[in-house]
Amino acid sequence: MTDLYTLERGDAPLLVSIPHLGTGIPEALRGQYTDVALTVADTDWHLDRLYAFAKSLGATILGARVSRYVIDLNRPPNDESLYPGQTTTSLCPTETFRGEPIYREGCAPDAAERQRRVETYWQPYHQTLHAELQRLRSRHANVLLWEAHSIASVLPRLFDDKLPDLNLGTQEGRTTHASVQAQAEQAAADSTYTWVANGRFKGGYITRHFGAPQDGVHAIQLEMCQSTYMDEHAPFDYVPALADRVEPVLRKMVGGALDAIRALNAASS
Ligand SMILES: [Zn+2]
Repeated sequence: MTDLYTLERGDAPLLVSIPHLGTGIPEALRGQYTDVALTVADTDWHLDRLYAFAKSLGATILGARVSRYVIDLNRPPNDESLYPGQTTTSLCPTETFRGEPIYREGCAPDAAERQRRVETYWQPYHQTLHAELQRLRSRHANVLLWEAHSIASVLPRLFDDKLPDLNLGTQEGRTTHASVQAQAEQAAADSTYTWVANGRFKGGYITRHFGAPQDGVHAIQLEMCQSTYMDEHAPFDYVPALADRVEPVLRKMVGGALDAIRALNAASS
């Protein structure tokens, strides 16, 4: 563990990345933030706890410790829009999902400060993610990168209506072999939760950048409604009675996709 991320290594062809898990805002920066921003409401809360089952599958689990309000690890470092034409948040967002200001008057980061944050916070996460995928690829011809996300189920500024509970994203199938996506979809379809593949969320920067099935890296993003496992209002408590229902579904989605990866590896050996 470093100040920037937690890393638990496993040897299975599975890496779970949780880039929005972090709640940390460095002490030196805190004075620039509004009180509402310091609640870091847009965190992908508790996903390390929810995905703890993946350790028993032999997963490597990488989780950010720095808040997306410092820098968003799932945006390109040049800050191009992920969804041109739609409202989305940027590399160093200046507004919360609800449109509240993140910085006090005159404190938003300028280009030099954004670049410093790329070097200080963004690059180490991405270098670690890259190195861990390389390590796993040295053992397995194909590996699964599972991008774990969660979000408030209703955010009128970002999307219409309530989101489906489970939102799979693979850039319309470009970031993974079809058999891997099919297994994750089947597990979602067999559950009582609402789901969609490549709806509003098609996979963010990490899924798009690292997902290269021809090179053995199969990336799937799961954006799930926080209503499936926690209280969506401050203080954002984990709700075991909810989480205990959705966790077996996650286990089947990830486990099924991992089975498909193993089948690809068996076929290629
Ligand atoms: Zn997220």
